[in-house]
Amino acid sequence: MKNISILGATGSIGTQTLDVIRKSSGTINLVAVSANSSVNKIIDIIEEFSPKYVAMMDKKAYKEIKEYCTNNQKSINVYSGIDGLIKVASLDEIDTVVTSVVGMIGLKPTIAAIEAKKDIALANKETLVVAGEIVMKKAKENGVKILPVDSEHSAIFQSLSGYCNKDIHKIILTASGGPFRGKNIDDLKDVTVHQALKHPKWNMGQKISIDSATLMNKGLEVIEAHYLFECSYDNIEVVVHPQSIIHSMVEYKDASIIEKIGSPDMRLPIQYALNYPERKGMIAKPLNFYEVGSLTFEKPDLDTFKCLKFAYDAGKIGGLAPTILNGANEEAVALLLEEKIKFLQIAEIIEECMNTFDYNKEVTLHNVINLDKEVRQYIYEKYN
Ligand code: MG
Repeated sequence: MKNISILGATGSIGTQTLDVIRKSSGTINLVAVSANSSVNKIIDIIEEFSPKYVAMMDKKAYKEIKEYCTNNQKSINVYSGIDGLIKVASLDEIDTVVTSVVGMIGLKPTIAAIEAKKDIALANKETLVVAGEIVMKKAKENGVKILPVDSEHSAIFQSLSGYCNKDIHKIILTASGGPFRGKNIDDLKDVTVHQALKHPKWNMGQKISIDSATLMNKGLEVIEAHYLFECSYDNIEVVVHPQSIIHSMVEYKDASIIEKIGSPDMRLPIQYALNYPERKGMIAKPLNFYEVGSLTFEKPDLDTFKCLKFAYDAGKIGGLAPTILNGANEEAVALLLEEKIKFLQIAEIIEECMNTFDYNKEVTLHNVINLDKEVRQYIYEKYN
């Protein structure tokens, strides 16, 4: 039996991880969970899964969960804030931590989990974007596996199994193109948050849905792939594939391509990461080729979807440039969700921050965290 902790248990990936546990015939045991402020969802998890530890990021939510446990005679250890997240990421009895929190907030708990020698089922791509060098180095030093949950990276990981890294020619990341595929800058001037949140293929949380609409999600995934698979940016290509049936591919030096295809269902990569190297039973609907019909491919439009270009730029510059890119993006997406800026301003804000802040500092945890704060503060003061 595998004992796991889920950071961000009430979000989209967290909820689907719970479903994987439900269907695991008792082979996966949920020991700990964390959430930001979703008290009712955590109470449902407590009632169904009886975790021994709960961490709530929000103080008020922490008090409510604590009170619930006292009133209902639940002997659960309840923690709060970032220290609480770190605690549930590094508990003695845990084997694997599913990092499904959204954003750079996942960085400190992920590092704590690696230092405590827990395997990581990585769904928090922002952590690798801002501190890929640090995280991968620590994982190596501690003998920890980083198992990708992101569907594209899981596909690459599976396409690489049995092959040698030196034989890779390039990694091809597929992108659905998001809700605005085929649109140009003029078309996007007045799009609403509501339109941006409507993803054609995947049902996801708000932040990643907006990232998919700007193609920043693919940009972050390019940087994630660079660190996970030690592949240079020139050898990572993005191909728009609206059907989302091919989840990504690896081209080998002889031009052979190995790809992973299947239904667009996140429970598949989650189940694979939690059981690696074993493969478990069928959790998703099997692919019906006759229903899928044709598969199509397009070049991404980098003039319209500038965020993808900025991510490549930041990745190639290296150093702290991805930290600036990510901090600016997280803040800009939050502003869009609050309807304080327009859709196209996300790219403008990122470009402005990339031109304003100095990325020529050493990549240390301290510098990453401080620069991230500075970028956020700058945007906050300007747009609030
Ligand atoms: Mg993805």
